[in-house]
Amino acid sequence: MKKHNFSAGPCILPEEVLQKASEAVVNFNNDDLSLIEISHRSKPFVDVMENARALVLELLGLENKGYSVLFLQGGASSQFLMTAYNLLNKKAAYLNTGTWSTKAIKEAKLFGDLVEVASSKDKNFTYIPKGYEIPNDADYFHCTSNNTIFGTQMKDFPETNVPLVCDMSSDIFSRQMDFSKFDLIYAGAQKNMGPAGTTVVVIKEDILGKVDRTIPSMLNYQTHLGKDSMFNTPPVFPVYVSMLTLEWLKNLGGIEFIEKVNEKKATLLYNEIDRNPLFQGVVEVEDRSIMNATFTLTDEALKDTFDAMRKEARINGLNGHRSVGGYRASMYNALPLYSVQALVDVMQELERKA
Ligand SMILES: *Cc1c(COP(=O)(O)O)cnc(C)c1O
Repeated sequence: MKKHNFSAGPCILPEEVLQKASEAVVNFNNDDLSLIEISHRSKPFVDVMENARALVLELLGLENKGYSVLFLQGGASSQFLMTAYNLLNKKAAYLNTGTWSTKAIKEAKLFGDLVEVASSKDKNFTYIPKGYEIPNDADYFHCTSNNTIFGTQMKDFPETNVPLVCDMSSDIFSRQMDFSKFDLIYAGAQKNMGPAGTTVVVIKEDILGKVDRTIPSMLNYQTHLGKDSMFNTPPVFPVYVSMLTLEWLKNLGGIEFIEKVNEKKATLLYNEIDRNPLFQGVVEVEDRSIMNATFTLTDEALKDTFDAMRKEARINGLNGHRSVGGYRASMYNALPLYSVQALVDVMQELERKA
């Protein structure tokens, strides 16, 4: 039996996806060759790439709206600089909600003026700032939809006339929203879509071509768009597994379906955190993430007992990020409800024992 996997990333993937992926590594499409040893220009792989790109648009409800999809390398971290390289002419506005936003801000500063419209650093990123103003003359506004490390999530996005850029690495495909509000969305695959090694970028093409600088080919979105995400050898295996996960999600009923499951899982865990006197949540209740729940023990003396119990219950990946401490339960799309129940059972058992 598989362990209950609450890992923050790389994260849990659906069993049927892992099964199909492992088969494709040995014998892809019954053609007696491995997926990872055929040409990326061959029809079987070109079909994978096209299908993966189409599924992204379909699931996000962005078909025929001027968006294109890329599967790039370098992780979401490379997008911190690539977005600025391609979009920042004079000035950009950023919302700072945690470690990842801070890193994005650091890179963008290399390319122009940066306005930090608001930050929750004053309270160790335990809330989402609200009521800030975005300068009308900014080239774009950048935010992080889900703060993977601290466990906060943006529930609303600002109305603004400047292009909206969002790092959705840890909550893309997890909840419904009007994705057409955004001009550029990026997400590292390994949080909610596939294995590490590719980053999905969804771009409204009309925001490109407006900066004065020369952009190196590999860092220029237009290069990759012009070649249908095949300018150079794409990460074939991560793209294939992402495609399988997106197919899995579509067959389940898409984002509309998975959002209900995700809310059920989050409600089950947060109710226990709030009810059980031995635990407390880390962040503001209204800003809690449905993907990453952070919590601590109210009595640190129980740590060894709790840790032994969760190990016994075969619960993996629950340690909080080193900058926060405590615990973090990552409940990505593929995590079953029964895994959250297993964690809640252990929390209740601790209460009985203590
Ligand atoms: C994990 C994460 C990143 C970094 O992703 P890499 O692919 O490791 O570069 C960036 N942003 C968010 C929100 C993340 O959760």
